[in-house]
Amino acid sequence: MTHEDTATVSSPFGVGAGWDLHCHTVFSDGTETPRRMVEQAQQQGLEGLAITDHDTNAGWDQARQAAHDLGMPLLPGTEITAQDGRVSVHMLAYLYDPKDPVIAGLFAKTREARLTRTRTMVERISQDYPITWQDVLDQVKEGSKTTVGRPHIADALVKAGIYGDRSQAFAGVCSSKSAYYLPTPSPTTHQVLEAVNHAGGVLIIAHPGAVSRNAVLLSDRQIAALAREGLGGLEVWHRDNPPEQRRRLLALAQRWGLLVTGGSDWHGQGKPNRMGENSTSGEVVARIVDKAQGSRPAAWRN
Ligand SMILES: [Zn+2]
Ligand SMILES: [Zn+2]
Repeated sequence: MTHEDTATVSSPFGVGAGWDLHCHTVFSDGTETPRRMVEQAQQQGLEGLAITDHDTNAGWDQARQAAHDLGMPLLPGTEITAQDGRVSVHMLAYLYDPKDPVIAGLFAKTREARLTRTRTMVERISQDYPITWQDVLDQVKEGSKTTVGRPHIADALVKAGIYGDRSQAFAGVCSSKSAYYLPTPSPTTHQVLEAVNHAGGVLIIAHPGAVSRNAVLLSDRQIAALAREGLGGLEVWHRDNPPEQRRRLLALAQRWGLLVTGGSDWHGQGKPNRMGENSTSGEVVARIVDKAQGSRPAAWRN
């Protein structure tokens, strides 16, 4: 590989430096608490980190408290699942005001649509299997902040003795290929962008070149449309973006004046991703903070 190639496809920061802007905790599908997450970032000598649980900011208070106690800089964030045409897109929203009515409304609407979707699936399943909506609700152990979904249906089927464990249920009735399956409703990328910008945040597309996750990626044109509407940047340094995608994304970022970020997508024990394996420079983080403050002064500060 030539020097130029190396510079083009590798994050300019080594492991354990800079900021890790993509980390999940028990508030979504990670295995560790926000405090454990902050402790780990500190042990690894990171400059700072972001909490980015899926479709929720419920972990922000705990993360902020831990960051404050340990003297670790923290960006509050959320990884929001959205839809752009046929493409399912993950978007990292940082430093938005969670009390903003537009973004709070967007989250509430998504939660309601997902609840309806799960209920409808259960109605269909209950025609053929002995489970009720109440049986599914009984399986929710994480409290009211959790979105009821397929894992809870699976647990109810296990409880009813239909399957031996959750993964068997996921291979059967709960599979996305099953006749009972309905897709998870999500807002469009444009709705998410509008809401995050309204709430004074900065929006970055997560792993936009993840060929292993998506059959179809966002096109240059789709990214350009979002850039014109005020998109903040692209998460280029992520293990799921292969080198040719990184080159494409860097060129798009340059063309549209987008920030380039990196993150590990850490999930604790839940995935092999190591915290800090990809990162973002302090300089880029400062630009994210500037952008957020420019759109609404210090809305995110406590
Ligand atoms: Zn993601
Ligand atoms: Zn993620």
